[in-house]
Amino acid sequence: MCKGRLFIVSGPSGCGKDTILSELFLRRPDIRFSISTITRAMRQGEREGQKYHFVSREEFLKLLEAGEFLEYNEFVGNYYGTPRTPVEVCIANGEDIILEIDVNGAAKVRSQMPEAVSIFIMPPSIAELKRRLERRGTETPQQIESRAECAKKEMKRAIEYDYIVVNDDLQKAVDDLASVLRSDGLKRDRQEQILDEVLKQC
Ligand code: ADP
Ligand code: 5GP
Repeated sequence: MCKGRLFIVSGPSGCGKDTILSELFLRRPDIRFSISTITRAMRQGEREGQKYHFVSREEFLKLLEAGEFLEYNEFVGNYYGTPRTPVEVCIANGEDIILEIDVNGAAKVRSQMPEAVSIFIMPPSIAELKRRLERRGTETPQQIESRAECAKKEMKRAIEYDYIVVNDDLQKAVDDLASVLRSDGLKRDRQEQILDEVLKQC
């Protein structure tokens, strides 16, 4: 059995990562999502265990000390970490998994798992990014400013990624991300079983 693949999706807060991924998972229910453990307060509409596990700073630090995270990062005053075990289990079971993490976390994962395929989601412009954060209405104006400042630094690191998807038209962005996942699955090393079977008949 082929091992599962690890995909990293990053992009500034508000660029549309969650929106794109929700659509992608409707098309590709076979792909798993890594649920991060975080210390930020729950937003309206969020549910424990859906995208995040919400814990206190103390609980987070205990998990960190116990080596439970594949990577973690502090982002605008809160901790965000990727639990190690579910990722390792998925990959060992041949299931593909997506990590939606920031640029620092992505660099840490790449250093441990260089085979990971990384995709950076870009907004069409900074002005549109701010508009989306404002329209989402989940942060205060001050938090939106902090996130927009972080966004500029994060976007400079898009060059570290294998693929760039611009989220201007949502359906096109979902199509683009789906194409990346699909074409990566067509790589020769993912097709060795079928190659062997057919070549045996030659
Ligand atoms: P992220 O997960 O990157 O923080 P979200 O998925 O929460 O971003 O999207 C931020 C806001 O932008 C949401 O209100 C969402 O509905 C909106 N949005 C996402 N993609 C688009 C798009 N292509 N065009 C216009 N608005 C979008
Ligand atoms: P938000 O607070 O908007 O949900 O997420 C803020 C940022 O944290 C986003 O850039 C998101 O990709 C990132 N993030 C979410 N989970 C993790 C994680 O487990 N690790 C790291 N490093 N970043 C994460």
